[in-house]
Amino acid sequence: MTDGPTYGFDTLQIHAGSRPDSATGARQTPIYQTTAYVFRDSEHAAALFNLQEVGFIYSRLTNPTVAVLQERIATLEGGVGAVCCSSGHAAQIMALFPLMAPNKNIVVSTRLYGGTVTQFSQTIKRFGWSAKFVDFDDLVSLRAAIDADTRAVFCESIANPGGYITDLPEIAKLADEAGIPLIVDNTSATPYLCRPIEHGATLVVHSTTKYLTGNGTVTGGCIVDSGKFDWSSSDKFPSLSQPEPAYHGLKFHETFGSLAFTFHGIAIGLRDLGMTMNPQAAHYTLLGIETLSLRMDRHIQNAVEIAKWLDADDRVDLVTYAGLESSPYFDRVAKICPKGAGALFTFSIKGGYEACIKFVDSLEIFSHVANLGDSRSLVIHSASTTHRQLSPEQQTAAGAAPDVVRLSIGIENVLDLISDLDRALTAATKS
Ligand SMILES: *Cc1c(COP(=O)(O)O)cnc(C)c1O
Repeated sequence: MTDGPTYGFDTLQIHAGSRPDSATGARQTPIYQTTAYVFRDSEHAAALFNLQEVGFIYSRLTNPTVAVLQERIATLEGGVGAVCCSSGHAAQIMALFPLMAPNKNIVVSTRLYGGTVTQFSQTIKRFGWSAKFVDFDDLVSLRAAIDADTRAVFCESIANPGGYITDLPEIAKLADEAGIPLIVDNTSATPYLCRPIEHGATLVVHSTTKYLTGNGTVTGGCIVDSGKFDWSSSDKFPSLSQPEPAYHGLKFHETFGSLAFTFHGIAIGLRDLGMTMNPQAAHYTLLGIETLSLRMDRHIQNAVEIAKWLDADDRVDLVTYAGLESSPYFDRVAKICPKGAGALFTFSIKGGYEACIKFVDSLEIFSHVANLGDSRSLVIHSASTTHRQLSPEQQTAAGAAPDVVRLSIGIENVLDLISDLDRALTAATKS
């Protein structure tokens, strides 16, 4: 099918990027489990290697199954192109790679997935990059943190783990003023709830491991390019605007226009960093995306009901769900993610760290895992697991204080979920 703007999300989540297989007519996208592709002749091979013709060379760079997924996610996000990779964390490095150089920095929100805080505060230093962590509700500090060496601003749309909603248009304005791209991690929201490009984002990154696949089977990541950033308006992004030595002096922006970032991500990023998504993973994620809108509607319906039930319970202190009217971020839901505030939130249990541990160990339906966005309900005590590497101050800033438990609400029967929580809260708080 041709992907026109006339098709609704529910149609595009099934059809975008996929055509009946040209060799067999197979209706479902085949899993092209192959490493390499035969060149028609030497001239064809040369044209592919020169990027004069788009085609398949080797599956570290491109694969037909992965290509369908790339087109589908790009369409759902309203971008011009996408690059899939091996995990969400790979997507973050791949998004920064064309923009960064030693001694350059990024300005990032304090409210991020725990693994991202570690990646940005520790690991990227090995590349000579650095990150400045700022409260993204404090626009004055955010503006002040951006300096001549800043190459991107990074945040999550619905931020993990606390149900915080980022005021994307305001952040995009500051990035624009500074002439640098805004990168938004849209994992917790998915393009069904929030399309960051419409709010001014330049790049959108995903852990496809989560809601997009939706069944906890594979890890994957994706970077979507809005195609809207002018990489040549300053000398800040030489990999895209100047002759790229890693590709015999090719000028990506001049040659590929709005697709410069996508081509760079494949021809250099995947080629040299090798963080490639495998076709089997792309297959599972394509299957998952077909039901994304149905699942998200049910995730939200269950999350709202459970957040309200917890909020009214005496054993519970604070529920952070932005879908509750009492949330300081309730007004942003209508602006940023009008279909709902997602299905991920935290709450605190009276009794602190020990009560949280007992609670997690007493649940039956909720699984205690370091994951989110599965069809099944999940729970984690972040302070003793995903956010363990952080200082208590960083834990609290990230919404993962010692008395806080995170829930990822699944699509099971909501009454069963509430009984499970009720039983475990009783076990956790009896003295
Ligand atoms: C899980 C997650 C990541 C990392 O993704 P992986 O696929 O586990 O590498 C990044 N950001 C957010 C918001 C996540 O939930």
